[in-house]
Amino acid sequence: MEKMAQYIKSIEIDSLWSNRKHIYWELRPDVNILSGSNGVGKSTIINYLMEQGLNIHFSVSATSRPPRGAEQHGVEYFFLTPEEFKTHIANGDFLEYEEVYENRFYGTLKSEVDNQLARGENVVCDVDVLGGQNIKRTYGRRALSIFIQPPGIEALRQRLEGRGTDSPEVIENRIARAEFELSQASNFDVIIINDDLATAKAEALKIVTDLQLKLLRLSKKLAATIIPFHSVTLLNQR
Ligand code: 5GP
Repeated sequence: MEKMAQYIKSIEIDSLWSNRKHIYWELRPDVNILSGSNGVGKSTIINYLMEQGLNIHFSVSATSRPPRGAEQHGVEYFFLTPEEFKTHIANGDFLEYEEVYENRFYGTLKSEVDNQLARGENVVCDVDVLGGQNIKRTYGRRALSIFIQPPGIEALRQRLEGRGTDSPEVIENRIARAEFELSQASNFDVIIINDDLATAKAEALKIVTDLQLKLLRLSKKLAATIIPFHSVTLLNQR
C-alpha cells in the first residue's frame, strides 16, 4: 500500500514537472505507434486521433521518395535526396529507418520525436511494421504499438486500386509486402482490424485514451489493483 502511494505520488510530481494542463495517469507523454500495410487506413485514423484534442502530434518522417500530389516538405514528410538520407544514417540521426520499398527509404528522426516529447506533446508515428517494432523497443512501456490490419488481402487490393495513386506494378509490390506485414501483427501491443473505418477509429481512440492501458504501461500490478481488467486481452503481455 505504501509502495502504491509512492507510485501515485511520483506520477503526480511528474505531471506537475512536465507542466501539463491535464493530469493524466501517465508518467510521461506517450509515443503512439501505428503500423500496418500501406492503404489500410493508418493516415485516416491518425488524423482522426489528432483532431480529438489529446495533444497528439504527428512525427514527420524523412523519406527519399519524391512528394506525391499536394504533399509538402515538413508536413507529410521531410523529402530528402538519397544522398541526404545516407548522410543522416551516417550521422546516427535516425531512431529507426527502413528501405520500405526498393530504393525508397523512410526513417524517424530522433530529433523529431525527442523535441516533441520535450515540449510535452504526445507523439504519433506512422511507420512500417519493422520501424514500429524498433520504436517500441526504444521507448518500451512509454510507447503503445498498434497494428492496423486489413480485413483481407483482396480488400486491401481494392482499397489501393480505389485510391488511384499507384500503378498496377506498385500495387502488386504493396500486396506482397502486406503479406509479410501481416505476419508481424502478433508482435504489436494491440491489433485493430479495419473492416469498418468508423469502428476502427473509435477503437483506436479508446485504446490511446484507455486509462487502464496507460496504467498497464506503467505497472501491470498497479493497473490490476485499481481497475478490473477488461481490454487487456487485446494486449500482448510482455
Ligand atoms: P508512403 O510512401 O505511402 O507515404 O509510405 C509507405 C510506408 O512507409 C507506409 O507503410 C508508412 O507507414 C511507412 N513509413 C513512413 N514513415 C516511416 C518511417 O519513418 N519509418 C518507417 N520504418 N516506415 C515509415
